[in-house]
Amino acid sequence: MSTGGGARGETSGDLFEDAFARVRQAAECIGAHPDVLKVLHYPKETLAANVLLRCDDGSLAAYKAWRCRYSDVLGPTKGGVRFHPGSNLREVMALSLWMTFKCALVDIPFGGAKGAVCVDPRTLSDAERQRLAHAWVHAFVRMIGPDRDIPAPDVSTDARTMAWMADEYARMIGRPEPAVITGKPLALGGIPGREEATGRGGFMVLDAMVQRLGLAPEDTRVMIYGFGNVGSAMARFLDQAGYRIVGAGDSSGAVISQEGLGADELCQAKQKHGTVAALEREGVRQLRSASPLIGGDCDLLVLAALQNEIHAGNADQVRAKAVIELANGPITPEGDGILQRRGVHVVPDILANAGGVTVSYFEWLQNRERQAWTRQRVDETLKRIMRDAARRVDDTATELGVPLRQAAYAVALRRLEAAIMAAAPVTGNGDSPQASP
Ligand code: NAD
Repeated sequence: MSTGGGARGETSGDLFEDAFARVRQAAECIGAHPDVLKVLHYPKETLAANVLLRCDDGSLAAYKAWRCRYSDVLGPTKGGVRFHPGSNLREVMALSLWMTFKCALVDIPFGGAKGAVCVDPRTLSDAERQRLAHAWVHAFVRMIGPDRDIPAPDVSTDARTMAWMADEYARMIGRPEPAVITGKPLALGGIPGREEATGRGGFMVLDAMVQRLGLAPEDTRVMIYGFGNVGSAMARFLDQAGYRIVGAGDSSGAVISQEGLGADELCQAKQKHGTVAALEREGVRQLRSASPLIGGDCDLLVLAALQNEIHAGNADQVRAKAVIELANGPITPEGDGILQRRGVHVVPDILANAGGVTVSYFEWLQNRERQAWTRQRVDETLKRIMRDAARRVDDTATELGVPLRQAAYAVALRRLEAAIMAAAPVTGNGDSPQASP
């Protein structure tokens, strides 16, 4: 298994090692103190559990589940919980590492975490999903807490799942504690704008970077790979800003139209039939799979499904000038190397999809302060944070002469390094080890 080659374009085949290779590369690039990599090379703590579910038919199902708190040097750990049949420990570790870098990059006082249950949620009734959410809290109650570790929604979990989890936590500790979980419904202390926050933040980053990417909204044709919560929100913002959506797809298929697809009609098809591929009208071509979108004729490709969508086998086919990663880890290191050599700009996940955790931070703050933020306050504060982060990444890319991904890791690592070194044990001579300049 490779530990350092991934960032140079070789894939180790292990999502966590590939993720960590990018950290090593950033450490080399900024000349980070060697102690920093020792602190960050493995999660702070991980718990694996066997989560039991009494099914509607009376049988007992057992699912593997995890919670990984990767690093809390910058604050309590924060990250979603996903229900997915492909989940595994290495994936959870990689996702929690990315959360650590994402929070550091946008400069919010959180560390990174992630959780998962290895389950196909489509096989569960609503009542079973609710019992599974309760069981997850039972299994991980010693990890989570408003000052320790704060879960949130992720793939196939939503506001309702978070309501069930917060309710179970309150029952277990004997009092309501809304700040233990974010992404809750408004009625339970949720925050306006959380559902579309990741798409909105991604759009704000794109807007701040159009010059570097060489895009003008009115001349930009976009394809959206992964039309779920994040992809559909991004589609609405792009449509409103005058971008032309020429393709959209999900796990059941895709639609293409060079004349343009409206965000409204795509959302309606998705809501009514469960897939955008159901959109039928003149000028729209339906595809049985979304994979042709990766090599589709467009200027900007939005990746909003799962990890490893662009890899060595298809990176050569990408025709877009720029790719924005709203999903976590959608491009393998090999795929990344190919895109870089071909001059395709990539706006990296830890910057592009950080809007979600940033608005989660606002939700946590309002719960702690027993206040309610307005929609306007959320949008304005998010805009300031996302634009500042995009500007720092852009400036660092210029300063170090590196692509945006490496610049984003460098910004985050500098922040983590400063915190790690500030508290580092003094040496036998009484000296404090120094962070990189
Ligand atoms: P979601 O489940 O609502 O949507 C995922 C979409 O991807 C669905 O439409 C699904 O059909 C599609 N998809 C899955 N496999 C596919 C495939 N092989 N080909 C094409 N489409 C496929 O999830 P989401 O909340 O929108 O999250 C999407 C991504 O964004 C994930 O990687 C998630 O980790 C990341 N993300 C989400 C948030 C958030 O706030 N929801 C925040 C940060 C990152």
